[in-house]
Amino acid sequence: MSSNESNAPNHFLRQIVDADLASGKHTKIITRFPPEPNGYLHIGHAKSICLNFGLAQATGGECNLRFDDTNPEKESQEYIDSIKEDIHWLGFGWAGEVHYASDYFDQLHAWAIELIENGKAFVCHLTNEQMREYRGSLTEPGKPSPYRDRPIEESLAEFARMRAGEYKEGEAVLRAKIDMASPNINMRDPIIYRVRHIHHHQTGDKWCIYPTYDFTHGQSDAIEGITHSICTLEFEDHRPLYEWYLNNISAPCKPRQYEFARLNLNYTVTSKRKLKQLVDEKHVDGWDDPRMPTISGLRRRGYTPASLREFCERIGVTRSDGVVDVGTLEFCIRDDLDSAAKRAMCVIDPVKVVITNFDENTVEQIELPNHPKDETMGVRSVPLTREIFIEREDFAMEAPRKWKRMAPEQYVRLRGTYVIKCDEQIFDEQGNLVELRCSYDPDSAGIKPEYKVNGVIHWVSATHNVPCEVRLYDRLFTEPDPEGDKERSFLDVINPESLSVFSNAVAEVTLADAEPETRFQFERQGYFVVDRFDQKEGRKVFNRTVGLRDSWAKEQQKN
Ligand code: ATP
Ligand code: MG
Repeated sequence: MSSNESNAPNHFLRQIVDADLASGKHTKIITRFPPEPNGYLHIGHAKSICLNFGLAQATGGECNLRFDDTNPEKESQEYIDSIKEDIHWLGFGWAGEVHYASDYFDQLHAWAIELIENGKAFVCHLTNEQMREYRGSLTEPGKPSPYRDRPIEESLAEFARMRAGEYKEGEAVLRAKIDMASPNINMRDPIIYRVRHIHHHQTGDKWCIYPTYDFTHGQSDAIEGITHSICTLEFEDHRPLYEWYLNNISAPCKPRQYEFARLNLNYTVTSKRKLKQLVDEKHVDGWDDPRMPTISGLRRRGYTPASLREFCERIGVTRSDGVVDVGTLEFCIRDDLDSAAKRAMCVIDPVKVVITNFDENTVEQIELPNHPKDETMGVRSVPLTREIFIEREDFAMEAPRKWKRMAPEQYVRLRGTYVIKCDEQIFDEQGNLVELRCSYDPDSAGIKPEYKVNGVIHWVSATHNVPCEVRLYDRLFTEPDPEGDKERSFLDVINPESLSVFSNAVAEVTLADAEPETRFQFERQGYFVVDRFDQKEGRKVFNRTVGLRDSWAKEQQKN
C-alpha cells in the first residue's frame, strides 16, 4: 500500500524498532493507538495513527486500537464509532478486537490492592485544595499527607469502602506512596483511584471508583504485550511514573515508553477540547464541517486517505516541537488530485451569454479530454447551445492590462471549442450585468485565428446542465497561531469569511450521476468533491477541497 516499501521512513523510532528486532530483544513489534473517546480525531491524531500503525505494518508487527476510557463523563459511543471509522478510512486496521482500558478495570483494581498490601499506596482524605497545597511547586518540595503512614489494613479497608460506594466524590482517593520531595511533581504521591459515581459507557454501573490515566496506561500496555508505547512529548515527565508502576506491581512485561513531537499546524487548532467548543457553540456545522481539521472534516472537504498519509510521512517524526505550514497539507492533496481527478466545467457564479449567431435548436456535442496529460482517462461530451453561462468574474467592462478573459469587443475562447466576441452588454436598473450578447466564429474551433484572442474561459450550457450548490472554504482562523495570544480567545480570530456558498452554480451534464465523494478538478477553479451527505433541494453540493495554486503563500509574500 505505502509507496515506499523500499525507502521506508528512517526516523528515530523506526531505528529503535529495527534495532530491537535485530538484537532479538523483540521478535515482533506491537504498538497501540490509544485515543480517549472524548471527541473526533484530528489531523494530529492522523500523525500518531500513521506512526503506530505504520511501524507495525512496516515490520510485520501489530497495532492495537485501545480506547483509553477512564473519564466516562466526557466519553461517548458516538466518539468511539467515529474513531473506528476514521482509522479504517485512513487505510489502517487494528489487530484483533478493539480493546478498552475499561476491560482491565478488574486487573487494575487488583494491582491497586497489591500496592496497598506492599505498603506502596494509601487512602487519603485531604480535600482537593489541601492536596494542591501539600503538593508543593516546581521550586518547593511537597509535604507528606497526614494519611501517608496509616496502617496497611486501614488503607485496605478504606479502599474497600471507596469501592463499595460509601464515599462521595472528593472524600477519599487512593494514592501511590512515592516521593513528596521528588523534583518531578508527577512522582509526589500521585492519585491512583478516585471516587466517581457515574455511569460508564462500557462497564455500566459496575464501578464507582475509576483509575487515573497514569495508573491505567502503562499497565494496559503491559497486559497487551505492547513493545513500544509511543506518545507525545508532554508525557515525557510521566515516564518515570509509567516505569514506577510497572516496577512495583506484578506486571506480565515491561513495555517502554517513547515520546515524539506532536503535530502543530498554523491557522489551525488541534485540541479536542477547543474543537468541541467550536461544535457546541455552533461556530461550525458539526465535527465533520469541512473547515474542521478533524479527519472526518478533511474527508468531507475532499481530502483522500493517501494525501493524509503522504502528509504524515512528509512532516516526519522527531523530538523537536515545531509548527507545520498548512500549505504542506494542501500541497499533498493537490499533488494527489492533479493526477487522479477528472476535469470538468462548473460555473460557480453564472452570468448568461447568448451566442446570437448560433442556431437556437442546435445542441453541438463538444468532445473534451477528461485529463489533459492522461489519455487513459478518456473523453467526455459536453453540449454547447445558443445560451451558455460563464463566470461573472470572467467579464470586465473595462479590461485591466493583460486581461486574459472577456471584455467588450474582445475575443475569448470557450474551453475546447469556438472563439466568441462580446458585442453587447445588458444591465438591469441597478447596474448589475444580466446578459452578454456575443457572436461566435464558426471557423475557430481548434484553429488559431488571425485576430488576438484574450484567453480561454470555462462555460456551461444554460439549457443542458446540472444545477448545484458550490461551497468555497477559506481558513477557519485569520491568525497563524490562533491560540498564541493570551489576551484573546481563539474564538476571536475565527475567519468570518471561511465559508462562501454559491447556490446557483451550474455544472456540465456529465456530473449528473457523480456519486458522493467523487472528486473533480473544475477547470480554473480548483479541486472539488461531491459532498458525502448534503443535497440542497435535490441539487448536488460540491465542496472545494483546495484551489489550483497556493494563492495564500503569494498573498503573504506581498504583505
Ligand atoms: P487533544 O490534545 O486533542 O485532546 P489528546 O492527546 O488528549 O489530544 P488522545 O485521544 O489522548 O488525545 O490521543 C490519542 C493519541 O494521539 C495519543 O497517543 C496522543 O499522543 C496522540 N496525539 C494527540 N494529538 C496529537 C498531535 N497533535 N500530534 C501527534 N499525536 C497526537
Ligand atoms: Mg490524551
